[in-house]
Amino acid sequence: MTESLQDKMIGEEVIKRFKEAQKVVVTQEKRSKTVHASHLTGECVLKTWYEFREKPEPLSAQSISNFYVGQILHKNAPLGKKNEVHYGANIRTMKPILTKDINQNNVFDCVTGTVDDLIEFQGEMVIADKKTWSSLKINHRAGGTYEKRDKTEPDPNYIKQLNIYKLLIYITDGVEAKKGVLLYLDKATSFKDPMPFVFDLQPVDEIRTWVLGKLDKIRQLVEPERTITKYCNYCPFLKICDPPRSEIPKWTS
Ligand code: SF4
Repeated sequence: MTESLQDKMIGEEVIKRFKEAQKVVVTQEKRSKTVHASHLTGECVLKTWYEFREKPEPLSAQSISNFYVGQILHKNAPLGKKNEVHYGANIRTMKPILTKDINQNNVFDCVTGTVDDLIEFQGEMVIADKKTWSSLKINHRAGGTYEKRDKTEPDPNYIKQLNIYKLLIYITDGVEAKKGVLLYLDKATSFKDPMPFVFDLQPVDEIRTWVLGKLDKIRQLVEPERTITKYCNYCPFLKICDPPRSEIPKWTS
């Protein structure tokens, strides 16, 4: 197909408009300055410590595209009547709190989170969260070929996230969910074969103890230690933190 200069310009114009539309959708979802469940699930506490004190690097084009797909999915796949439910709680007092009542005095006492879906199954509440991934990974070093990969277990950080949701739901509604389910949806097959991972959630006291430990570290005035992982290259504070590049593990999966 031959392409005139005008055709090329029209093509470029629609790409520009699409990217702007993606950006609007992604940046609409700005988080308030509260400690969100996902702030507490990563291995590096320093990253979260920076979140409350430093300006992050702007999102990469890849991150914007990933968030965009996630948002389209979440808006269009409710698994029950209770979906996208927002929770907030003071973990030290074990009392629910509205986001508007979280301020600089209690920010490191409180956690907020939005639960994808709450399902009732055989009289018990199950916490469900949808996660997108891709079974096809581009190998840039091999000239952009695709490698097939499998998902055999859920990400431990997502398991922690659902445990925090359990704590928030318990404090707010007084209901103790025993099971969590992470529903992995493969972008490479347009979500054709949803893959659920079902697991037991931790007891409330255990979750509260490690959540308080993390809140204490984020609250402290002294910078916590770095935890260098393969995720460092995608950290929005990479430049500020400046870990030795040779210590960042290679991304293998
Ligand atoms: S670059 Fe790595 S070590 Fe530094 S804050 Fe980010 S995740 Fe932590």
